[in-house]
Parts: sequence; structure tokens; C-alpha cells
Amino acid sequence: MPKKIVYGANAANEFQYPENSLIITTTTPDIYEKWLNYMGIKKYEIYDKVTPDPAIEKIEEIKEKYEGKEISAYIGLGGGSSMDVCKYLGKLTGIPKILIPTTFGTGAEMTTYAVVSFNHKKKLLQDEAFLADAAVVDPYFLPGTPFNIMRNSACDALAQASEGYDSKLGNPFTKLFCKEAFEILEDAIMNEKQELLPYGAMLSGIGFGNSSTTLGHALSYVFSNEGVPHGYSLSSCTTVAHKFNKSIYYERFKKVCQKLKFEPLKLKQSLDEAAEVIMPDRGHLDNNPIEVTKQDIITCLDEIINKNPLQ
Ligand SMILES: [Zn+2]
Repeated sequence: MPKKIVYGANAANEFQYPENSLIITTTTPDIYEKWLNYMGIKKYEIYDKVTPDPAIEKIEEIKEKYEGKEISAYIGLGGGSSMDVCKYLGKLTGIPKILIPTTFGTGAEMTTYAVVSFNHKKKLLQDEAFLADAAVVDPYFLPGTPFNIMRNSACDALAQASEGYDSKLGNPFTKLFCKEAFEILEDAIMNEKQELLPYGAMLSGIGFGNSSTTLGHALSYVFSNEGVPHGYSLSSCTTVAHKFNKSIYYERFKKVCQKLKFEPLKLKQSLDEAAEVIMPDRGHLDNNPIEVTKQDIITCLDEIINKNPLQ
């Protein structure tokens, strides 16, 4: 876990930010200027051209751009992509990083994972050097989040919590966090208590971040490589994976996805091609509670795209 975790109303307002930080964000000035004002942050540099699924070339470009500027800390302010860029930059330069999620789903502020694209393919990386020096989680950023972003993020957090619970790398400590995260997130969505999402996502990050995600995430990347948002692709992928694994979360996960009104997924490539892409993803598949063959992957993909698993 990060050395310092601050959570709750006003957390981002009360936090003391070092001067001459480089803020990295996916949002636009009309939004982040309001945020920076709330955070009371002064004397900073800002890089606001981060796009979803950041490419390694872009990260290296940012590193070069700010070389010699004596940046004291990176502040990742936004969704998963802003935080992933900060994590990778921090590993390259050794500069401390403060992560502040604003869409609440990936739990990236708590984990040693980063997703970076190499040759237009998303790759999940893990490194102790990706861990935040401080994570600041404040529900202030939640209101105004577009419904689509909220629902994709919530689905990601829920998938991570439940896949993390089932992971072979799980232990009583990680299961405690995954179980609690699932219950909070489920309550937040089913009973429309959105203000609970940041806390649920944070606990999910601690839980799955110290175990792993599994088959659902492995299946999802072929859809994200074709442009489907990460959380969206998990709605069907994790549902089918939970069914395959006989997870205790299968029915409950599906119900939440139904409540969020996710549509079935489509796939451009053939099932066989997709299975070839998924099989080498040992980081996810080796930690799945049940062994997965290529034929199992094809059966799961067939169910995802041809049998509407969310019905
Ligand atoms: Zn995820």
C-alpha cells in the first residue's frame, strides 16, 4: 500500500502539495482549474494531453519535456490513465508520485500495476516502483462525472474486487478487502448511493492489488484492443468468467451489470485469433482458480458475443 493514504471529504483540499509539482491529467482546463483551486495548489507545471491507454512513447516524451525543470513530485489527477502515466514516469525518474483518482474505479492509486500500450497493445505491468508515495481519495471529484464513465469505473472496481477474491494469490487479508469492497460497491450501485464508490474502489485496489485479477480481465483485453472501454468489456467478460469459475459472486455481479444496463459485446476478430491473444496472458490465467484451456477461452468468448450473458 502507499506510504500515505488520505481519504474522505476535504482530503484533497487539506493535503499539502510540494511546490513545483508536475500535474498530469486527462481532463480539460475548464474542469481541472476548478479542481486545482479546490486543492489550493500553487507553483506547478501541468501536462494535460494524456489520452486513454497511454503509449510508452508518450510517457518518454513527457519525461524528456520536463527534464532539467527540477520537478519535485508528479501528481496524477484523473482516471486510471493519468495515474498510470505518473506511475511509469516515477519508475523512470525516481521522482515521488501523488495519485488522486477522480473517476473511482481502477483503484490504481493503491496498486503496483500500470497499464501501458506498446505497439497499440495494452500491457499490464507490475513493479514495486509503481506504488504511489501518497494516495489522496476525496469524493469531491465525483459529482458531474458522466454516467458512462461512472458505470464503467464502477464495473471495473466490482470486477477487480470479485476476481481478486477468487484469485489463487488471495489470502485472508486480501479477501477481507475484496469482500468488503464488493459489498460497498454493490450497495452503491443497487441502492444508488454513488458517494460510496470512491471508498469501494479504494478497498478493491488494496484487495486485488495484493492478489490479482483473473480470467475476466484476461478475456477483456481483446475487446479493449478493439476500442471497448475497459470497465464496459468487463461487464460481460467477468460475468462469463465468474460462471466458468463457479464464483460466489456470479449472480450478484450479473445483477449489478443488469442494473447498469450494459449491452452485449461484439468482436471483430475470430474467436480463434482472440484466444491466441489471450492464452499468453499468464499473469491473469495462472492465477485463475480453475485451469483454463484454449478451448475454454473459445467457449467463454462464444458465450460473451453470441449468447448475451447479461440476460
Ligand atoms: Zn480492471
